[in-house]
Amino acid sequence: MKTIDTPIIKDLVLIGGGHSHVAVLKRFGMRPVPGVRLTLICQDAHTPYSGMLPGYVAGHYSFDDAHIDLGALSRFAGARFYQNYATSLDTKIQKVICEGRPAVSYDLLSINSGSTPNTAIVHGAAANVVPVKPINRFLGHWASLKERVLKHKGTMRIAVVGAGAGGTEILLAIQYRLEKLLNEEEKNKNNLRYYLFSQAAEILPTHNQNVRKCFQRVLTDRKVEMYTGDSIVEVSSGKLRTAKGAEFEVDEILWVTAAGAPFWLADAGLQVDKDGFIQVKNTLQSVSHPNIFAAGDVATLLGNPRAKSGVFAVRQGKPLARNLRRMLLGKNLVPFKPQKSFLSLISTGDKYAIASRRHFFIKGRAVWYWKDWIDRRFMKKYNDLPDMPEEDQASLPNGLASKEVIKEISAIAMRCGGCGAKVGATVLARALNNLKPVPRDDVIIGLHEPDDAAVVEVPNGKVVVHTVDSFRAMIDDPYLFGKISANHSFGDIYAMGGEPQTALAIATIPFGIEEKVEDTLTQMMTGAMEILDEAGAALVGGHTSEGAELSLGFAVNGLIDRDRVMRKGGLRPGDKLLLTKPIGTGTLFAADMRHKAKGRWIAAALDTMVQSNRRAAYCLMDHKSLACTDVTGFGLLGHLVEMIRASEVDVELDLREIPFLDGAEETVRAGIVSSLQPQNVRLRRAVENLKHVGQDKRFPLLFDPQTAGGLLASVSAENAEECVKELKTLGYAGTKIIGTVLPQSNQLEPITVLV
Ligand SMILES: Cc1cc2nc3c(=O)[nH]c(=O)nc-3n(C[C@H](O)[C@H](O)[C@H](O)COP(=O)(O)OP(=O)(O)OC[C@H]3O[C@@H](n4cnc5c(N)ncnc54)[C@H](O)[C@@H]3O)c2cc1C
Repeated sequence: MKTIDTPIIKDLVLIGGGHSHVAVLKRFGMRPVPGVRLTLICQDAHTPYSGMLPGYVAGHYSFDDAHIDLGALSRFAGARFYQNYATSLDTKIQKVICEGRPAVSYDLLSINSGSTPNTAIVHGAAANVVPVKPINRFLGHWASLKERVLKHKGTMRIAVVGAGAGGTEILLAIQYRLEKLLNEEEKNKNNLRYYLFSQAAEILPTHNQNVRKCFQRVLTDRKVEMYTGDSIVEVSSGKLRTAKGAEFEVDEILWVTAAGAPFWLADAGLQVDKDGFIQVKNTLQSVSHPNIFAAGDVATLLGNPRAKSGVFAVRQGKPLARNLRRMLLGKNLVPFKPQKSFLSLISTGDKYAIASRRHFFIKGRAVWYWKDWIDRRFMKKYNDLPDMPEEDQASLPNGLASKEVIKEISAIAMRCGGCGAKVGATVLARALNNLKPVPRDDVIIGLHEPDDAAVVEVPNGKVVVHTVDSFRAMIDDPYLFGKISANHSFGDIYAMGGEPQTALAIATIPFGIEEKVEDTLTQMMTGAMEILDEAGAALVGGHTSEGAELSLGFAVNGLIDRDRVMRKGGLRPGDKLLLTKPIGTGTLFAADMRHKAKGRWIAAALDTMVQSNRRAAYCLMDHKSLACTDVTGFGLLGHLVEMIRASEVDVELDLREIPFLDGAEETVRAGIVSSLQPQNVRLRRAVENLKHVGQDKRFPLLFDPQTAGGLLASVSAENAEECVKELKTLGYAGTKIIGTVLPQSNQLEPITVLV
């Protein structure tokens, strides 16, 4: 996470990582506006590029060829990336309501969330069809459809409803791919039957006659049955009924009809057109809400509507970015002139395409290669990001801040150190008042009866475990960071087998105007409180100051029975070593800082980091584990060495069994390691067969420092398999037996690594 030198004055929030917003991110990345914080909320870490979707389905492109990595692009743009779904808007308090996380405040909002085929207007469709958008959900379904087709015996019927360019193209791509897969497995491709339904009298009704004729011929040659001039009026499981009364039994129904809008736009009070799309002026600004912009499928240009097409969404990126910037700086907006028609390059699945624009028409293999060149060139702009020089502190541009705000910022610059760096009492009170620590009888004086310190009772028969941890944020999302930091701090208590009782928070929030400081603090503590609540630990106090970087830590108290403590020194020869989470967070986040990590790698790493070790610890105790530690800054090998020394044993570690996070092997192979790694690597001298194992590409991962890592524990050989099974059931899917404890030998190097 970057040090924030210029205080944040305004929040520009983008909903949806569509074709227009990728351009906004790139442009703001190339030319940031100091004092403006960007946040992207998108459910996908990788957004599909519509032009390459049929080619991806047909198998001509890889996932990465056809998707833009929103994680890396956001990092480039200096934007916070929240992988989440916006469910509604509160325009009065200017907040985006999201699924399972605190609402996100905005000063300026832009929506580019696309559309989905409308299933609501046909009875039974919502429950029985697969809409082709959102595309990533469809792609998940496509993966399972391929498997089903390959396993299926007898005839299978696939119906596509909607015969525009999208429906026709996707059907031909699906057919091409399925037949190829069946051929490869020497199975009968003639068992598959395809139907294409169109309510219009002809397929591809918005294209010229030559294009229509050409596709008619291709579809006929490829034995696709076409039903035109009749609309589907009812869908039930495996059945379609048309307005003219025809019925079709089918096994799979894909829905590629006209685009529909989500209901939450109108519910939020935005002015929408008759189909529910946001009405925008020729500046892409909402007709009803001046601080909301919209582009792509989700928007309709007032008096100038255009087809819902990726081409228009792409074209709107540049004017959208320009007007968002001008709006932030208080400048007049510049109108945007949409083109009337556009060139469509529609493929037939088999590396053959047809070009169509008004009356223009050409076809052939060369057209497909032309399209391929255009699409790859477009993707390169977003997936090959340039290195930008680090900016020094930049002054605020004119027009961004009001006089009052400028006064507030001048006051920030004059702030004292020492106690003067504390976050103001009003801000703190507002942010903390909403926190509801779990009530505990043993907390006598806690957060909401403020005194000089908390007073806590130790229940009879228990002893107390104390620990403290704190670190600066490695991600830009304060809510997730709050969760991770709390998890990391609680890890030590769980590793001892303790039950968290109370916690004191120590937080640093980047300097800023009051409302931004309050928002960051609220988001971060909401995340942390979720972990504390799950742990049953009461937040009893803390200290919050302003500083250059976001950081959070906790001093945690835990309770434990004196004779049930899991110690580092409890390894016994013959025990199996278990690891409950995959490793690799150090290298992955180092790569993320350099824009070298894929969004899905970071998303998967974050999933493990927000997972508490609580249930794992209790499961290990139930399986009579005597030795346990949490894997954090010293890396797997560093923590293992601590256990070996304390237990006076040797260990055989199986590198092939150690679970690694997706992408960690790639980033380490690229030479990207955490800044802490060199210190950890000194412990390689503990490895007996270093010469041999040191050559292995995975070896550096043994030293990778972990944030909120899993538990490393020993369990007797007879309990180990059962314990792993139960840990997996509890959600620790990556759990593995990674080695065996051996009696201590005379050699200086206690660890042998199997490769
Ligand atoms: C099969 C098929 C093929 C097509 N082929 C072409 C083609 O070749 N050329 C062409 O120009 N057009 C094509 N289209 C049309 C094209 O897909 C759309 O017009 C285009 O994707 C719209 O782009 P957009 O930027 O508005 O939104 P999208 O590309 O749909 O992107 C929106 C993003 O926002 C996310 N999102 C949505 N709602 C939310 C929310 N509430 N919170 C957070 N995130 C959200 C989505 O998951 C998605 O990542 C095709 C469509 C289909 C169905």
